[in-house]
Amino acid sequence: MSPTDPSNMVLEARNLAKSFGSNTVLRDIDVEIRRGQVVALIGPSGSGKTTVLRSLNGLEIPDAGTVTFGSGDASSGLAINFGAKVGKKDLAALRDRSAMVFQQFNLFPHMTVLKNVIEGPVQVQKRPKAEAIAEAERLLERVGLADKRDAYPFELSGGQQQRVGIVRALALKPQLLLFDEPTSALDPELVGDVLGVIKELAEEGWTMVIVTHELAFAQHVADEVIFMDGGVVVERGPAAEVLRAPRQERTKLFVKRLQ
Ligand code: ADP
Repeated sequence: MSPTDPSNMVLEARNLAKSFGSNTVLRDIDVEIRRGQVVALIGPSGSGKTTVLRSLNGLEIPDAGTVTFGSGDASSGLAINFGAKVGKKDLAALRDRSAMVFQQFNLFPHMTVLKNVIEGPVQVQKRPKAEAIAEAERLLERVGLADKRDAYPFELSGGQQQRVGIVRALALKPQLLLFDEPTSALDPELVGDVLGVIKELAEEGWTMVIVTHELAFAQHVADEVIFMDGGVVVERGPAAEVLRAPRQERTKLFVKRLQ
């Protein structure tokens, strides 16, 4: 199956627009992601990256635009038009397709690591508890945190908490992983571990969108880079082109810090 085969499309967002009051933060944003692709969203602070990411799974409701999951095949596809009223069922279906890893980890502070990981699969997805526990243990083992299953978030370092955040997302078995600046709240010495886990997931073929300030990392793992500024996409293309040989002045200025 070629990467351009339309049946490989995981998500297609078209013309997303969003304002907060009189502040227009997104204009005409398009995002396409095919199976196994890694897309990095980069750009200055306040350029709208997080709002795009949150719009892809309905944590933010855009004012206009569409998000389509799947190849449009009626049995598995999902098409949402934010310009019309979005029903609860559609929103729930949208949220079920992807899982978000947050900048501030967002673990439940009063729950153990294991409970944090199985909460979504058991309570929301109604999976059998024993199966969810076995899967959680397997995933914790893989990120080197098997011995922390009964610990509480406050007992863990930031890097460990974020690895639990990633495991919690994986446990939902989403079609798409969304990362919102997953390392920017970490002490510098803990960044590498978390980026290492994300890189492994990319190599395993997970489909992901990553908002990141780590340009060297983006160059390493991303198939496509989208550079945003002022709520619009300024430039997009293969990571090596956008980061190493950008065409737009604004992109050139931004990626200078990589060189
Ligand atoms: P980035 O991720 O690139 O830093 P954001 O998507 O977080 O950018 O923010 C884009 C703009 O939207 C900023 O001006 C920000 O202040 C504004 N914004 C984001 N979320 C909200 C919100 N919930 N209410 C009001 N303004 C918001």
